[in-house]
Amino acid sequence: MKESFIRNKYGEVTHFSHPPRIAKQADFDGATPAQVAEAYLTENKQRLGLAQGRIANVEDATKFSEDPDATVISYLKEKDITGSTLVIFQQSTMGLNIFNARTGVHVNNADMTVNSVQSSMHASVKITNLDAKERQVEKSPKKITAPAFRKMLRTIKGAENPRIARQVVYRYESDDRVEAEDHRGCFGGGGGHVHLDLSKADGFKDGEHYIVDEVLFRAPISKGAKPVNWRALVEPKTNTVLYIRALVAHATGMVFVRDPQTSSNATVTASSMNAQLNPFRSSVTLPGLTAATPQPLAGDFVNIMDFSIPTSIPPTVANPSGAFNFNARSDDFSAVNAYYHCDGLFRKMLDLGFTLSNYFDGTTFPVPVDHRATIGSSDGNEVNASAPGNALGNGLEEFRFALVQQNQALGMATSARVTWHEFGHAVLWDHVNSPNFGFAHSAGDAMAAILYDPNNQCADRFDTFPWLTISNPVISRRHDRAVSAGWAWFGANYNTRYGGEQVLGTTLFRLYRSLGGDSTRLSTRQRASDTTLYLILKGIGLLSSTTNDPRIYVTALQNADLTTTAFKGVPGGALHKVVRWAFEKQGLFQPGATPGGSTITTEGNPPEVDVYIDDGRNGEYQYQRVHWQNQDMWVRRSADGGTSHEQPLVGLTNYMYVKVKNRGSEWASSVSVDAYHCLPGTGLAFPDDWQPMTTPSISLGSPIPPGGSTIVGPFAFTPTQVGHECLLAIAHADGDPGNDTTLTGTISEGRFVPFDNNIGQRNVNPVMPSFQNLVAFMKGHKIWVRNPFRKVKVATIHISMPRILRKLGWRMKVVSRGMDKFEIGPRDRREVVFDLVPGADFRSQDIKRAIERGDATILVEVLLDGELSGGMSYPLSFDTDPVDREKRKDFGLLRTDLSDSLRRLLKGQTIDPDILSSRKIRRVSFDFDEELLDDKTDP
Ligand SMILES: [Zn+2]
Repeated sequence: MKESFIRNKYGEVTHFSHPPRIAKQADFDGATPAQVAEAYLTENKQRLGLAQGRIANVEDATKFSEDPDATVISYLKEKDITGSTLVIFQQSTMGLNIFNARTGVHVNNADMTVNSVQSSMHASVKITNLDAKERQVEKSPKKITAPAFRKMLRTIKGAENPRIARQVVYRYESDDRVEAEDHRGCFGGGGGHVHLDLSKADGFKDGEHYIVDEVLFRAPISKGAKPVNWRALVEPKTNTVLYIRALVAHATGMVFVRDPQTSSNATVTASSMNAQLNPFRSSVTLPGLTAATPQPLAGDFVNIMDFSIPTSIPPTVANPSGAFNFNARSDDFSAVNAYYHCDGLFRKMLDLGFTLSNYFDGTTFPVPVDHRATIGSSDGNEVNASAPGNALGNGLEEFRFALVQQNQALGMATSARVTWHEFGHAVLWDHVNSPNFGFAHSAGDAMAAILYDPNNQCADRFDTFPWLTISNPVISRRHDRAVSAGWAWFGANYNTRYGGEQVLGTTLFRLYRSLGGDSTRLSTRQRASDTTLYLILKGIGLLSSTTNDPRIYVTALQNADLTTTAFKGVPGGALHKVVRWAFEKQGLFQPGATPGGSTITTEGNPPEVDVYIDDGRNGEYQYQRVHWQNQDMWVRRSADGGTSHEQPLVGLTNYMYVKVKNRGSEWASSVSVDAYHCLPGTGLAFPDDWQPMTTPSISLGSPIPPGGSTIVGPFAFTPTQVGHECLLAIAHADGDPGNDTTLTGTISEGRFVPFDNNIGQRNVNPVMPSFQNLVAFMKGHKIWVRNPFRKVKVATIHISMPRILRKLGWRMKVVSRGMDKFEIGPRDRREVVFDLVPGADFRSQDIKRAIERGDATILVEVLLDGELSGGMSYPLSFDTDPVDREKRKDFGLLRTDLSDSLRRLLKGQTIDPDILSSRKIRRVSFDFDEELLDDKTDP
C-alpha cells in the first residue's frame, strides 16, 4: 500500500491513506485513540494542507476561539467501529464552526496506528461579511417571528418553531444551494412537493466564506405529509438563503418488533382479531430504504416483491417520509414486517462487525423477499418459510414467507424469530453451498433463541418460536432438550435435520447462558447474546463445506474466538474452553458420539487433561455471578502448609496456596501455577494491572492423576493496603495451558476469570475487622475503580447488605465525589470512599445466624455501562480465634510504630532506637506508586 491523496476542486485533501503508521509525538503507552489522532494530525498538518489551522488540545477545545487569523481544529467526538475508532475533529474560526468542515482520523485500536484520514476541512478561510457576526454569543436558540421567517422562506407554509440555533461559517456553492437533482425526491419531479422560491443570491460568490445564521424549523415536505426537520443557512444582512435542506425522515412502518409472546407473554394467536392484535404493533423507522416517490419497500439489503403465488402486490406509500401502517391481519402488514426483519438480519451482521461483501460473497443484494409466498404446497395456504439458494448454490437467492397459521391472514414474517431461522440458511449458502450443516438443519433456531432471550417476556423461556407454538400447538421446537431424554448429540432423537437443529440450539443456548445469558442484568444478557451470535456467525464463516461431524463446527467456533482481535472492544482467546464444554454437556466427546451413532444418553467427557482451580463449579462453566471468591485459593500468614484461610496481614510476607484438580481422563503433567496480585480495586485488566507475586510461579515435580488434586504453594506476597488485595492464580499443564496464553489483548477480569477453569481469583481483606470494628473500618474505607476500556464508561457502585443489617436500618453508601454513579475516563481509575451508617442495635446471635444462613456478606459490585466489572465481598465475622487476636494486637502495635517511624524518616529525623532494636521491624522498604503519591501525602 502506497501513500495516496484525493483532492477536491479547491485542491484540498479530502482523503489521505498510507501504510499503518504510529504518530511519533504521542507517548503511546496508554494513550487514548483521541490522543493518538491528535498527535497524528499535528504531525501531518502540512501534508493535509491544514498548515493554517491550529490544533487545539483535546482538553482545551476553545483556547483559540477568538483568533481571526487562523482556523482551529478541535476534537469533536469519536465512534467505535469494530476494533477501530474514528476520531472526528471540527474546524472553526473566530469561535464559529465552519459548516461541515470535519476530519475523521481512523485509529486501529489493536496497535494504535493510523492508516487513513477523511477530511472536509478548508485550507484557507477568508470571511467576506465579517460584520455579520453577532457580538454576543447566544446561549440558547433565538426565536424567529412569523414575518421574519416569511422574509427568508416565502413559500414554506406551516413552519413550526423556527429559530436561529447558532451562527456558522459557510462556504457558498451555488450548485449546492438546494438538494441535487438526482436526490430530488423532496423538491421536484413528483407532485405535491413544497415549491422553494428562493430569492436570487446576487453578489454571493462561489467558494467564498460567509457568516450565516443556522435556521432550524419543522415543516411538511409535501401537502398533508407529516412535518420533518429543516435546516437553512441564511446570510443575516440580506436574509438570503444560501443553503437549505429538509432532513428527510425515513419512512416508518408498524411491525411486530418482537412477537406478542416474546414482548409481553400475550395469549393472542394468529386467529385473534385486529382489535386484539393491533396493540402489539409498534411504529419503527424502516432503515435503508432507497428514497423514491412513491416509496416501495426496497432498500440496500432486501426488496419486498411478489415473485411467487399467491398474488400479493407489496404496498407503497406516497413519498419517502410516508408511513406503512396496516392492520395486523393483512398481507401488507406481513410485507412491512418482512422488510423490517430481513433488513435487520443484515444490519445486525454489520453491527457485529462483519463486512457483508466478504461474508456474502455469493449473494446478490438487495435480496428479493416474497412476504406471501408458496413454499411447499401450491395453494399458498401453508405454515412455512424458506431461504432457497441461487442457481450456483453458492449464495442466497431469496426469502419466502407463508402463514403463521392456515387460513389466517397473518404472515410468517411477523415472527422475527422465524426470519432468524431462515437467516440460518442464508449464512450457510455462501460458505458450505448448502442450506444445511450436514450435522444439523441450521443454527437458525439457536440464533433466534439467543437473540430474543435477553428481554424475553414469554413465560416459557425455552420455547424457540412462541408465536408459532401458540397458534399451532403441534409445532414444538425447543432449546432445552435433555440429554437423558434422547437429545444428546447422537442420541435417539438426534438426526441431521430438525432433531439436530434442537440439539444444536440447546448446545449453543447453553454457551450463551454461561457467557452471561443467565445473569439477572439485562445489559449482561445482551452482551452475552451478541457475543454468542458473533461466534456462531463467524464460526459458520470459517466452514468451507458441509460435514456430518459437529466437532468440526466446535473447532470453527473455537477458532472464531481465538482469531478475534477485538469484538466490541474485547479481545478474543478467552471463550474457547466454554465452547467445548457446551457441546460436552450435550453428549459430544465420548465413544459412540460420532456420525451414525444413536445410543448416547449421557454427557460427554472432559478434555483428556483439564486442570482447574475449583471456584465451586467443579471445573465447569455454568454462569457464575461472582468470580472473585475462589475458595481453593487461600492465604496463610506463615508458610506452614495449613489449609484454612487466614486474612493476610498488611506490610508482611503472606503465603498463598492453591489447590489444583484434574477433571481429565489422563494424567496432567508439567503442571505449574503462576501467581499474581494487584492493587485493590475492580475492573482490573489482565495482564496490565496484575503483578507477579514475590514467588511468581511454582512447577510441580509430579503429575496429577485423573480426578486427583494437588496443593501448590507457598506463593509469597506482601499486601500493601488494609481492606483488600486481589489474588490471581493460573494453572498450566501439558495440553491444557491457561487462557493467558491465548488472549489476543488486554482484558478485564470479568471477561477472563469465569471462562477458564485454569484461572482462579480470590479477593481478600488483609486484616479483616471483626464485626464490632466494622463501622470504624468502613468509615472512609476506599477502593479503586478502574476502567480497562478505551472509552468513557459510566460507573455504578451497587451495594448489597445482609438482610439482618438492612432490617435494622444499617446502610452503606458511597460518599466520594459523584456518589455511586460517575463517568470514568478511558483506562482511568478513581478512588471510591464508603461510609457505613449504623442502624439499630443487634443481638450477636442474629449475626451468628446470618453467618450460618450464608447471608452475612456486604457485597460491593462495580458496573461499567451497566455491566458487572468487578467487586469486593466483606464477610461479617466474629474474630474469636485467640491466636488471631494476639497477632492482630501485635500488628496494631507495629502499624503505629511504623507510621511514626516513617514520618520521622521522611522528616530527616532518626528513628526511635527502641523500635529499631525491637524485633518488630526487620527491614523497611519503600515502594511508592507515583500516581498515588499526590493523594497520599501526609499534610
Ligand atoms: Zn429451515
